[in-house]
Amino acid sequence: MNINKKLLKWYYKNKRELPWRKKSKEDLIDSYYVWISEIMLQQTTVNTVIPYFNKFIQRFPNIHILASSSISEVLKYWAGLGYYARARNLHKTAKIIVKRYNGVFPKNIVSLLELPGIGDYTAGAILSIAFNKVAFPVDVNIKRVVQRLSNKHEANKKDLTEYLDSSISRSKPGDFIEALMDLGSQICKSSSPKCELCPLNKNCETFLKNKSMLSSKKINYVKKPIKYGLCLIIERTKDQKYFFIRRPEEGLYGGMLSFPTSNWVINKKSLSKEKVLNFDGLSYKKDKVVHVFSHFKLELFICYKKDLVLNEMKGKWFKKEEARSQLPSLMKKVLDKFIH
Ligand code: SF4
Repeated sequence: MNINKKLLKWYYKNKRELPWRKKSKEDLIDSYYVWISEIMLQQTTVNTVIPYFNKFIQRFPNIHILASSSISEVLKYWAGLGYYARARNLHKTAKIIVKRYNGVFPKNIVSLLELPGIGDYTAGAILSIAFNKVAFPVDVNIKRVVQRLSNKHEANKKDLTEYLDSSISRSKPGDFIEALMDLGSQICKSSSPKCELCPLNKNCETFLKNKSMLSSKKINYVKKPIKYGLCLIIERTKDQKYFFIRRPEEGLYGGMLSFPTSNWVINKKSLSKEKVLNFDGLSYKKDKVVHVFSHFKLELFICYKKDLVLNEMKGKWFKKEEARSQLPSLMKKVLDKFIH
């Protein structure tokens, strides 16, 4: 039996039940579901994404509703997932698809790649998984499995694509791609792969000839640089509301609701000179919120003020619970730790 037959046989018995995999009568997965899930899954694990996906689909069940919603509403349902540029691109793309393509995803790579936030990988995933076309979206799982199957551990994208092209099922390319993703996440894991359970162990060049490559490797963790910032909590005592701003569209947490903060600096000693809104020389608590981003760690120190005069400062007042669902995870930490 060749690779694709063995793999598909294994997949139909063992595939993960995921909310974005529901099929239509035509045996196809909704392209809208594939797109939303693939964007959410960038930099985020499957288990984290599932509840966000379910809530998102409940609120925006199709692309027309997503396109006609406001960006602040979309960001509200993205809050906590991080990498907010993804949500803004999602919204822009929804508008384009409704306007230019009458709400239907184009089925060719060139048109897909023109859409905001859709690169090679997502375009390939939409084409293969939603439209059952031969395409090669190579994520970390597929890369690892193919490198091991071919025993080419430095294989580049071209090598991986060639291998996939020679083995992919021509009748079920979408299932083949999903099967490889599942095999990578359940069996061919990065450390301690379960080769004895693998349906492809008789085809795997690494398992057959180079087992030492499969023993767990030591991971060298690189220490992340630390940045420091001030965060200003302003309480309005008459109605127990707090002052929030919308962060600028460009940059980290773009467009999200946030407590006002200073710039984030690398020298902790210069923190006392940093401004928040128009205020400088703010005193801050020793206690802090620590948040780890992909490239650095942030230590955010809190300045707490009651009934500060803000004049015409642009922002909004919210009660704790009104704000919570709209905040990114860093700001949720601040809220939960310092407002009771
Ligand atoms: S035999 Fe082992 S290394 Fe090879 S594909 Fe299967 S799980 Fe991965």
